[in-house]
Amino acid sequence: MDLSTLERLPMWIAGRAHAPTTTRYGEVTNPATGHVVRHVPFANAADVDAAVRSADAAFPAWRAMPPLRRARILMRFRELMDAHRKDLAKLVTQEHGKTLADAEGSITRGIEVVEFATGIPHLLKGEHSENVGTDVDTWSIRQPLGVCAGITPFNFPAMVPMWMYPIALACGNTFVLKPSERDPTLALRMAELLKEAGLPDGVFNVVHGDKESVDALLAHPLVRAVSFVGSTPIARYIYETGARHGKRVQALGGAKNHAIVLPDADLDFTTEAIIGAGYGSAGERCMAISAVVAVGDAGDALVGKLASRAKRIATGPGDAAGTEMGPVITCAAKDRITGLIDKGVAEGAKLVLDGRRPSIPGHPDGFFVGPTLFDHVEPSHAIYREEIFGPVLCVVRAESLDDAIALVNRNPYANGAAVFTRSGHAARVFQQDCEVGMVGVNVPIPVPMAFFSFGGWRNSLFGDLHVHGMDGVRFYTRTKVMTARWPDDGSAAPGFHMPVMG
Ligand code: NAD
Repeated sequence: MDLSTLERLPMWIAGRAHAPTTTRYGEVTNPATGHVVRHVPFANAADVDAAVRSADAAFPAWRAMPPLRRARILMRFRELMDAHRKDLAKLVTQEHGKTLADAEGSITRGIEVVEFATGIPHLLKGEHSENVGTDVDTWSIRQPLGVCAGITPFNFPAMVPMWMYPIALACGNTFVLKPSERDPTLALRMAELLKEAGLPDGVFNVVHGDKESVDALLAHPLVRAVSFVGSTPIARYIYETGARHGKRVQALGGAKNHAIVLPDADLDFTTEAIIGAGYGSAGERCMAISAVVAVGDAGDALVGKLASRAKRIATGPGDAAGTEMGPVITCAAKDRITGLIDKGVAEGAKLVLDGRRPSIPGHPDGFFVGPTLFDHVEPSHAIYREEIFGPVLCVVRAESLDDAIALVNRNPYANGAAVFTRSGHAARVFQQDCEVGMVGVNVPIPVPMAFFSFGGWRNSLFGDLHVHGMDGVRFYTRTKVMTARWPDDGSAAPGFHMPVMG
């Protein structure tokens, strides 16, 4: 597929590019220029059905393939992703806007999940107990589910799908991916590379679209499990609708991640860490720091240092040398973020750095918002309550560590939180008492490596299993337990009573 000239993207079904039947198309824009770069189909139920049936047809042979052979295909895929890392990063930057270095980093994080998945034969092993009763043995195995679907957000077009499908495939499932309609092309490139790695046709499929295609996946009787990552209202909808249709669902939602800064923290180190975590990828990371809680007298000095560093952030197109922060994803996102900044001012927060009208030479139509910093933000303010998902940091003041922890625990979102301190005791209290899914100590974005699991609590996750790591293996398999005896001494079969072992 020559993606540089592609006007209308195809879907990917049964191992090849597939023209959809839908007549509805959307625009994919380059956020740095504001120009349309291609068009994306919005699949209808018939298009989704074609993809699901292709995955279902491929399932028996894929499931029967020894896990080690499946893993070897993923090993080749890992090599291909690595070899194409620069081109893939360019595509991420073109459609998403983040810097090339950041895009490449996100591809590396995705590749790490493939590396984890290549070891899955070990993790698929069951348990065995000899003689649970006289001459009776019991053992368990993990079996794949069948067709699994992934529905993913715009902010990590390679990495977030890679939280899902490498593990689903390694476990013996087949997959239908519905990537974000804002940056859909990466999914097709990954499908091509999977094929090149030797993946049998139909094992991995891509449908594009919006709510219509998602609803068709959620209602399709052949889809056994749905993994979703995106905003909280949609995550809740996916969880409830998927469950109503009898599917296994994990739905990761939005976030409002806090960094607690104690008065004993190394403020230079902390400032650099918070700047990267707050403004990196224009704040469009689910683990971005958006609320900074300055404890005690840490506040004034911290805000001064954050402001002087944030002012120097090089904002511009993601593919230009030296750019530290790119645009946000759409014009609508830019307007929403700017509107929230207006609201912050109106509600009385102190605007220390205003990014509403950045000047980006040569890019008058790009969707840019400059780094923005608020101080003295109150928990009642909209900029604190809502997920801004843009380059806006809000500093809240708190009197003590306990007050800061209480603030984190009252927030409806609970993805990640970090503490900056030199005190091991304070860090330990924070780890114990803070009610979120992922905690950092002097680590602003505590995203676990692929061999641990990633996920939040409360409104940041609907479902009980996180993604990748052992939770990923559990999500994409179901357990079967066998109990067997082989009598050859004429002993009597169990009678009418409840069999008792031992
Ligand atoms: P989004 O919820 O708008 O879209 C996510 C997916 O849902 C897309 O594929 C989209 O096409 C689909 N979708 C959108 N509206 C729908 C509807 N009404 N019905 C059915 N499907 C629908 O999210 P986004 O704007 O693409 O991504 C940003 C959000 O994702 C942020 O809230 C961010 O915090 C969250 N996110 C969370 C994590 C996490 O790990 N918890 C990771 C990345 C992003």
